Amino acid sequence: MTTTDGPDERPPVDLRTEALEELLTERGLIDPKVIDGIITTYESNVGPLNGARVVAKAWTDPEYRQRLLADGTAAIKELGFSGAMGWHIVVVENTPTTHNVVVCTLCSCYPWPVLGLPPSWYKDPAYRSRVVKEPRTVLSEMGLDLDDDVQITVRDSTAEVRWLVLPERPAGTEQLSEEELVSLVTRDSMVGVAKVAP
Ligand code: FE
Repeated sequence: MTTTDGPDERPPVDLRTEALEELLTERGLIDPKVIDGIITTYESNVGPLNGARVVAKAWTDPEYRQRLLADGTAAIKELGFSGAMGWHIVVVENTPTTHNVVVCTLCSCYPWPVLGLPPSWYKDPAYRSRVVKEPRTVLSEMGLDLDDDVQITVRDSTAEVRWLVLPERPAGTEQLSEEELVSLVTRDSMVGVAKVAP
């Protein structure tokens, strides 16, 4: 427990989390070192670079792309990415006429093995409720203007199924190697709130 002279001004959720972790530790139900290890892993070692490798491979290997769209979890595991918060990942493809955007309306379910930890806006109640009701407006506010004839599908991630977007390969990138393509792919494009810029 942190002790201070004045009132603890951290957000109530932080205080509750700390109290809960302390209680579980006291009762021997969790090992704080294990928890810290998991957090460090996902903060430092696992991030959107994994997802970018999946996308770049799908762009350059048509057979891999087929496997990825047919069974995302298995195809992602081929590249060595699997584990907690990623036991069942479904990959959907964005095209010039169809656009997928991912949300977790309930909380913040997210495919950790390929994208790391979710950004704060993904956990924001405003994003979670509004993107379902008015996806075109929300995407536009986030800097992505889609033509009126592009069909938008909102994918709701849950504890059971977590979605990953395969963004469109930008025009003019035909000469780039897989490794060069990896560096173009952003986290936001794999959540579907942005396109990949050439
Ligand atoms: Fe969730």
